[in-house]
Order: sequence, then structure tokens, then C-alpha cells
Amino acid sequence: MSAGGAGATAGSGRVAFVGAGPGDPGLLTARALALIALADVILYDRLIPDQALAGARADAELLYVGKQGGGPYVPQEQTEALMLERARAGALVVRLKGGDPFVFGRGGEEALALRAAGIDFEVVPGITAGIAASAYAGIPVTHRGLASAVALITAHEDPEKPEAALDWDALAAFPGTLVFYMGVRTLPALSARLIDAGRPGDQPAAVVSHGTLPEQRTVLGTLATIAADAAAVGVRAPAITVIGEVAALHAQLDWLEPGPLAGATVAVTRARAQSSSLATRLRALGASVIEAPAIRIVASTDELPPLAPFDLLCLTSANGVELLFERLAARGEDARSMAGAVVAAIGPGTARALRDHGVIADVVPERFVAEGLIEALAGVEFSRVLIARAAQRPARCAARARGERGDREPVRDRGRAARPGDPARARTGRLPHLHLLLDGAQLPLRRPAGCRHADRLDRPGHQRDAARARPERQP
Ligand code: SAH
Repeated sequence: MSAGGAGATAGSGRVAFVGAGPGDPGLLTARALALIALADVILYDRLIPDQALAGARADAELLYVGKQGGGPYVPQEQTEALMLERARAGALVVRLKGGDPFVFGRGGEEALALRAAGIDFEVVPGITAGIAASAYAGIPVTHRGLASAVALITAHEDPEKPEAALDWDALAAFPGTLVFYMGVRTLPALSARLIDAGRPGDQPAAVVSHGTLPEQRTVLGTLATIAADAAAVGVRAPAITVIGEVAALHAQLDWLEPGPLAGATVAVTRARAQSSSLATRLRALGASVIEAPAIRIVASTDELPPLAPFDLLCLTSANGVELLFERLAARGEDARSMAGAVVAAIGPGTARALRDHGVIADVVPERFVAEGLIEALAGVEFSRVLIARAAQRPARCAARARGERGDREPVRDRGRAARPGDPARARTGRLPHLHLLLDGAQLPLRRPAGCRHADRLDRPGHQRDAARARPERQP
């Protein structure tokens, strides 16, 4: 049996252990993105980039199987059982892990379970946090003349536990850089043990927390001071600690520039499929972005009436356009069915979606809101209008404003989309200050527990004074 996917017999399921990298979504590999897009089932851990799941199929089963933090805890046996069960049922299962799947990720154990069960698997390496966080902090883990070896080490939260047994003498004598993966609470015990075992207390040491993420932070000190230095600035997990002469290079090689939005946390509430381009732009400006889709787009079950009797079609979103064309295609029609009508788009995004289907909107208002559409339609003659709009949300549109009757065709429903255990959800729980970007869905988003303050950043044209903004309800 081959270890690769090519060895799988047709129809049988298989598993891909995929490394999602250290946090920056730009560090996901091309192979990782391709498998995420193909997967039937994705079993994911806590420390994966928020954006990693954005490219998953809409019908993929996304299951959180994280092990740390205050969130839900999924025992290892249950994760393995799920993986085996889904693969046996014929699914392509992506087992998505932070960093590299075979570096402190229990990927090896899970692969052994698959081998024992006769299920094929492949392994997609990821950039491991120890290397990536160091690089983003300007610390080369090897450097000619300073370090010609590097050790990746995991230290248990509680160094007294038997599984934490490390050979401290050997580590202290290691001729190169030591990179520890661990919770920040371990630092005092760890540095004391290394010094006791003979590692010089004046050796440079650095802690890099949230490496490669917008909130990355580096603290530089010596082995003797690093625990106190990190505690003084309140460094939080996840973090790695680099011990060795190379750590001092941080002072010269630090290259990460804080963007104009550094320090801001922005929740993007658009439906998942559309949030990533906005999220990417915000991240490029240094914001910490939480993709927390507050809406999910689903086609309504109502039937689309024949378009011929309508002489005005109002499209109120790009999603509406997509669903309208899906409906038309399903009954063998295309853009020509709209030929007899004036086509109005609520804004440029909707107009673009129409253009992608070969239809140039006749009317696009200057203000991209329902009232703007009403103004833009002032001179348009029509007798029957079809308004493609979201269900459960009264569309204030031209016909209504003029007191005329419009047939409303709900083409999309709204529903909550953030899934329990979603990394976005897990992360919002710990934020002291959240900036909410209400884009697309102007829904009241509940302020997450633990978040003391939330500002609303409405879209341009809807700028509001934060002080006047509706207070967010506590959950
Ligand atoms: N398989 C992962 C490691 C999992 S163990 C990998 O290859 O990176 C989890 C530990 O990794 C955390 O306790 C922390 O020490 C480290 N870690 C993960 N993401 C990190 C990040 N963005 N910055 C710093 N350390 C990180």
C-alpha cells in the first residue's frame, strides 16, 4: 500500500494530514489550500489561521477537534475515531493542524492509527511555529559562526509531570539554538533548570508570541531575565522561546513593520465566501481580523416567477444575482430572460455580479442603499417590478416608496453561520476591545463575553460617531 493518495483504491476514503502554518494565512502552502478546497470533511485544531477554512466547500463538514484553551475539548481517541469513520465512509478527510502536522501535533500517532486500519494517507508539511515565529522576529535559527544546529523542544506546562521528562543536562550542553514550544507559564522553571544544568545565564533569549500574526510580539532578554521580561509585558500564549546567541540578532534584523491598523481588531461579518478579500486587505494594513460570518446565504424555497411580465428588476446584492442566475439556469434560461426589463443594481458590487453574467445594469444609484435606489429610479417608467432581496428583511424599494405594488421574490435567507468551536468564535472570547466592521450584513452582532468595549465601524457613507452607536448587547 502506498502512503500517498495515489495508492487509494477508487471510492475509498483517505486522509491528508495538512499543516496550516503558524498563523499568517499567507503561509498556507499551495497544496494545503488545494486539499482544503477538495475536502469532504475537515477536522481542525485551535491554532490554525482563521482564514484557513475560507476556501472549504460550502457543503464540507467542518469539525473542531481542538485540545487546548477554554473552548470545547475533544479527546484524542474521539478525533481518531471520527477520522477513521469518515475515511471508511469514503470521504476525503483533511486533518488540519497548526504549523507542521508532524511537529508536536500528534500527527504521527494519528497516522499510525490509519496505517493500522489500512487507510491511505498523505502528509502536507507546514511551516512550523518555531521556525516561522523566529523568522518573523528577525531571528535566524542557524547563523554561520553563531549556531550550526537547532533543537525544537516541547516542554509540558507542568515540568514535574513524567511526560515532561527532558534531559536538561543534554539540552544545556546542546551546541546550538534551543527553540521551546510551550505555554508562557513554563518559562521561569525552564530557564532555571537550564541555568542549573550549566547553560550561561547571560546567553541571549527571546520570546515570540503570536508569531506571524498581527499581534506578534517579541521580548528580548537573557536566559536569566527572560521569564521576568516576558511577565513584565504580559506575554500571552501561543509563544515560542529561542535561547542562543542568534536571539540577539532580533535587535538588528527585526523587519516587521506595524501597519496603520496595528492594534485594531476587526470582526468581518460578511458571509464566509465573501469575507476573505476584505479580511486580506485589512490584515495587510496590520489589523487583527476575525472572520465571524453573521449571515449565511441560502436559496429560498419559493419558486422564481417567470420574468417576462416584469419591466423592472431590482437586484439588491451580488448574492441575489448569483442565486437568481442559478434559478434561471435550473429551468434552462439565461440572461436573455431579462431582456425586456430595466435592470437596477443597488451598488457597484451587484452591478459587477450582473456584468459577470453578461448583463449591464441600466440603473446604479450613487448612494448604495435602498433610498439611493429609490432616487435613481425616479424617472423610470414601470408597471411591474421584481425585487430580488433577502427574505425576513423588508426591502424598502422604489415600488413601495411610491405606494405601488411590487412582487417580492425572496432569493436568499439569512441564518447564523459561525459554527460552535469556530476558531473565530474561540478567539473573540478573549478580546478586551473589538472593532466591529459591519459590512454587508448590518445585523446587531452580540458583543462577545470578555470583550469590554466594541466600536462599530460602519461602511463609508454610514459613518457614525462611536459614542452614538447602538450599545452592543451583552450575551
Ligand atoms: N504543530 C505545531 C506545534 C503545535 S504545539 C507547529 O508545527 O508549529 C503548540 C505550540 O506551538 C504552542 O504552545 C506554541 O508554543 C507554538 N505556537 C503555535 N503557533 C504559534 C505562533 N503563532 N507563535 C508562537 N508560537 C506558536
